[in-house]
Formats: sequence, C-alpha cells, structure tokens
Amino acid sequence: MLIVLRKGAGQEQITPILQALEAHGLRGVPMPGAERTNIAVLGVPTPEDAEAVGALAGVVEVVRVSKPYKLCSRETQAADTVVQVGSVRVGGGTPVVIAGPCSVETREQTLAAARAVRAAGAHMLRGGAFKPSTSPYQFRGLGEEGLRILAEARAETGLPIVTEVMSPDQVELVCRYADVLQVGARNMQNHYLLDAVGRTDKPVLLKRGMSALVEEWLLSAEYIMSAGNHNVILCERGIRTFERATRNTFDLSVVPLLKDLTHLPVLADPSHGTGLRDLVAPMALAALTAGAAGLIVEVHPQPELALKDGAQSLTPAAFDTLMEEVRALSGFLAERRALRHGVMVPA
Ligand code: PEP
Ligand code: MN
Repeated sequence: MLIVLRKGAGQEQITPILQALEAHGLRGVPMPGAERTNIAVLGVPTPEDAEAVGALAGVVEVVRVSKPYKLCSRETQAADTVVQVGSVRVGGGTPVVIAGPCSVETREQTLAAARAVRAAGAHMLRGGAFKPSTSPYQFRGLGEEGLRILAEARAETGLPIVTEVMSPDQVELVCRYADVLQVGARNMQNHYLLDAVGRTDKPVLLKRGMSALVEEWLLSAEYIMSAGNHNVILCERGIRTFERATRNTFDLSVVPLLKDLTHLPVLADPSHGTGLRDLVAPMALAALTAGAAGLIVEVHPQPELALKDGAQSLTPAAFDTLMEEVRALSGFLAERRALRHGVMVPA
C-alpha cells in the first residue's frame, strides 16, 4: 500500500500517519520525492486499515501496490533513483563505468589497473579482496590486505572503490575501505548479508543471482531497502542456461524490463555476462543502448597472468577503445533522448 500525501505535506502530517500505521501493526516508510513525500506501507494492510489511514490529514489517496516488493517498486516511486557515490551519480542519465581487475592480486597489479582505467575515463574502480571461488583450491582474495591496496589506489587516482562483501561478519571491515559494497551473484539470496548491508549507509551493488528470477532479485533489493538503506544499484551479470558457448547468458532484456518494475538504477556486467573478452565491448554498447545506467567491466594490466577471470578481462588498450565508443554512444543516446523529450512537449 502507498499513501499519497498532498503537495507540501510535512512532518506534522507524516508523524501522525506513521503512528496510526504502527497502531494497526504496520510500518510506514517515507519516500521523499521531488514534488511530495509519499509513505510506503510495509506489512499486510486490510481494507479497514486502508480506510482508516485514508481519512487522516494530508492524505490524498491510498493506492494498492500490486507487487510483492514495495520500496523498490516503480508503483511506490515514479522518479528514477539516483545513487550518489562521492561526486559520481549512478542513474542520473550519464552512463557510469566501473572498471578494474576481477581480484586484487598485488599492489603493483591493482595500481597499474587503477591508473589505466582512470586514464581511460572510468568513474569508479572495482576489485575483489574477498572472492567467491567455486573450488576451495582457487584464489580466494587477499582479504584486508587487498582492501588496503584498494584504498591506496583510491588515494592516488581519486576513484571510489567498489568491492565485494561475502558475509555479515565482514560488513564492518569492508565498510571501512569501500565506497560501494558489492553483493555478488552467489550471495544474492543470502538474506542475513542483505540485512547487514541494509543497516549500513554505503551504496550497495546487488548482482543478479545466476538463476534468480527478476522478482526474487527485486525482493533481495527490498531486503536491503527495508533495513533502511535505499541506495541500491542492480547489476545484470548473466544467468545460467543450457548454453555453454558463453560463460553465462547475458540477459539484456531485463534492462528495459526493470525500468518499468523499479526506480532503482540498473548496471550491466558484460564481463561475467559473456566470459569472453571479445564479446565484452559489443555487449557493453548493447547494454547502454538498452538503457543501462552504466557498466562494470573487468580490466587487467596483463590478462594472461590474471589469477581469476583473465579470459574475460580487457587489456588497458582495449578498455581505452571501449571508453571512446561509450562516450560516442552516450552522446548519441543523450541527443535522441532530448529530441524525444522535445517532440513530446506540447507546443
Ligand atoms: C565479480 O564481480 O568478480 C564476481 C565474482 O561477480 P559475480 O558475483 O557476478 O559472479
Ligand atoms: Mn570476476
């Protein structure tokens, strides 16, 4: 249920409504918008609850939210969410590019990657210090040492850091270094981790689980938001299908689909989405054309020596070329948007 307030309604109206909801065993979450603040209602309201709340001061309308996810639903908030990371805006219209190695391997490798992606025009640096690993015998990351290296790379390049957190007990440590907490595909439904990152004030990059339905993915975003953290960025990274020619099946159709379902920004990860270096640039451009708010791309100074995901990592030179294409395409897409907008404005 969504309570639509009249324009200009303030705390004097909001507080009694929140109290009334509580008295009915429900929880209200104010959703400030450009024009007015609305209140999303969590819980299972009865028609009687809706009627009682509808009669309160400042309430224009009580709307049923048909989806099982509420806070992230487009029904609850019409305007796109923009997630601010330092001076970078994710979802603000200009595509954001996060780039860097799959894993932090050494100080030299990470600094070289950071310098290269910075020079090419990336907006944030990625790199895993805690790595998910299919086999217990593979590299699982440098842990806190990796986080320290990322912090050094940020200090030198000014790029905010995006890095993965794998368990609730790591959240506090990772928060001390990261600008954005990445929840990986394997943890998309680790609900205790979602609760824990939801209690922080760090933006969260929530990757799609490898066999997650869109609805399950959005319910995971809902976990984070219902714990208090509304700065959620979704990221499509491919799903597992019968196809083996690519590492995953990159499901770009969810990008425009999610625009209807949620106000949260959606990024695309063509590196994990395809698993193949040569497919990364074409699918990156396809993702932006489909409306993605940006990209997360793996770049390694020497992909052939990478401890993880070398086959899908771009060289610095290939990333530089991709960034030129990204700039040209975003200019074109922005022009088309302006034109469409201009055409739609009545004379
Ligand atoms: C990664 O970003 O390196 C990663 C492990 O991604 P995913 O969780 O999408 O597999
Ligand atoms: Mn990787």
